[in-house]
Amino acid sequence: MKCRICGMEINERNFNFNEEAFINKNSIDNIIHCPFCGVGKEYLSESNEIIAVQSDLFDENTLKILDHAVKLELFNGDFYNTAAMKAKNDKVKKVFEALSKIEICHSKIHQRLGGFIKAPNLSKVSYDSYDSDSALLQLAKQKEEHAVGYYEKYKNQVNDSNLFEIFAALAGVEKEHIILVEE
Ligand SMILES: [Zn+2]
Repeated sequence: MKCRICGMEINERNFNFNEEAFINKNSIDNIIHCPFCGVGKEYLSESNEIIAVQSDLFDENTLKILDHAVKLELFNGDFYNTAAMKAKNDKVKKVFEALSKIEICHSKIHQRLGGFIKAPNLSKVSYDSYDSDSALLQLAKQKEEHAVGYYEKYKNQVNDSNLFEIFAALAGVEKEHIILVEE
C-alpha cells in the first residue's frame, strides 16, 4: 500500500510509526492513515499510485505558495524538535517528537512538488521563554491553527487541481494535530 500524498510505502514494519501523533492508531489489519505524513485512508492506494502534479505548469504564485509552505512546515518541525527536548512530561515529549517528523515530511512533500532542489536554511528561532509543557502545547496549537488557515486559504489560489487536493489533505492532518495538542 502506498500513500498517494507523500509516496511512502506502508507495510507491516512501519504502519505504527509516529503513532503518538494520532488520536486513533493504525493496527496491522486496519490502516487508517499514513504513518509518515498523516493523511487519512482515503488517500492511501492499494494500486500504489500517487497524486501527480504538473509542476512545469505552476504559475509564479503557486511556486511562491509552495516555497512558503516548505518554510512553514520546516519551522514547525524545528519547533516540535525543540519542544520535544524541553518537555518534562514523557507523553508530551513523545507527541512532539512524532509531530516533528510529520511536519518535516510535509516540508519534503512541498519541496518535491515545487521542484526545489534543496531545503532552505532557516534562521534558528528561540523558544526559551516557553518554559512549561502547557506553554509549549499552547504555542503548538497556535502553530497548527496557522497551518490549517494557510492550507485552507491557499488551496484556492494554486493553479493545479491535484495540488488543491494535497493541500486539503494536509489541512485535515493539521486539524487533528490541534485536537491532539489540546489534550
Ligand atoms: Zn503519506
